[in-house]
Amino acid sequence: MEIKYQLKPAAERRSEQFCPEGNVGFGRLRTDHMFMMDYYDGEWRDPRIVPYGPFEMAPGAMALHYGQSIFEGAKAFMHEDGEIYTFRLNKNAERMNRSADIVCIPNIDEAMQLKAINALIDVDRLWFPMQDGACLYIRPFIFATEDRLSVSPANRYTFCVVMSPSGAYYGESLNAIRLLISKEFHRAVSGGTGASKAAGNYAASLRAGKAAVAHGASQVLYLDSTNEYIEEAGAMNHFHILKDGTVIIPEFTDTILKSITSQSIIELAPLLGCDVRQEQIKLDDFIAGVESGEIIEAGGFGTAAVVSPVGSYIFEDGRVVTVGDGKVGEHVSRIYRIFTEIQKGHRQGPQGWVCKVPRLEKA
Ligand SMILES: *Cc1c(COP(=O)(O)O)cnc(C)c1O
Repeated sequence: MEIKYQLKPAAERRSEQFCPEGNVGFGRLRTDHMFMMDYYDGEWRDPRIVPYGPFEMAPGAMALHYGQSIFEGAKAFMHEDGEIYTFRLNKNAERMNRSADIVCIPNIDEAMQLKAINALIDVDRLWFPMQDGACLYIRPFIFATEDRLSVSPANRYTFCVVMSPSGAYYGESLNAIRLLISKEFHRAVSGGTGASKAAGNYAASLRAGKAAVAHGASQVLYLDSTNEYIEEAGAMNHFHILKDGTVIIPEFTDTILKSITSQSIIELAPLLGCDVRQEQIKLDDFIAGVESGEIIEAGGFGTAAVVSPVGSYIFEDGRVVTVGDGKVGEHVSRIYRIFTEIQKGHRQGPQGWVCKVPRLEKA
């Protein structure tokens, strides 16, 4: 499908590369344009790039009432050649369709998703923020627009992509966070929607996030609904590292979101020079391992931070368990460095992980 360009007049668009003073932060800014495409009468239609701005939507739009809405999150980086490169965007497109399946949203051809995002980055490439560690954060999402108040899959949807010029996640160095081990709140149950980036999952996590903050933690370590196994660290996959450097990530089940960062770490094991394994992890075994010193580091994997080291855990009764010396460990730092070097093009990663955004003729 051909993408239609309805661009802002040149005078209203950014005309020089974005060189912000100071860190632009995460997710605050927007670029000049967005991509949109609609689904009705059984097909995705009318792909277009339009000025960033409000939607017109019926108050009865089903996404607003029943939460039929999903999203993705990806990053693009500028390399030394001045070109912009996406990082494993094909994996995001693939996962968008898995999320779509879980909440009965029609799939979008992966190639079309990639074409849409590449075209949008190309149009707004001057918005790439020229600062150390910066990226263009890409947010594709799909939501039900049909004006109908019965609970059933909608017949109309919009696919939209917006972008946010974002600054480095960390300042000088990584910092360690504390997680609340919650036996009260759960993120997902088997047979539910935990394996999708469905909007409602994140609304459902807010209360647990507030409880974490009340305990002086920044996020929740979610357990499975029997409180026996470790699942996720907020909106990141959880991991820990043994004395011998082995990285262990909970096995992907239908209650764990398949993180592209985690999958990448698994594939990078040879380059990282360590074993990376997935297994079911009992909370009790994990805590015993941390206390005995068998487990020396832990953290979360996700696109926003890449790696978020965990320095300590707190239980709901106030008991604190510290990992190693509670500071950022060597292994985590090395993983972070190698991963971000690949993203920034300072190091060769596996074939096809970084893809140059083509410069197109705008019809
Ligand atoms: C998005 C997300 C992750 C991280 O996935 P990445 O593809 O690495 O960004 C992990 N867990 C949850 C619940 C998420 O929503």
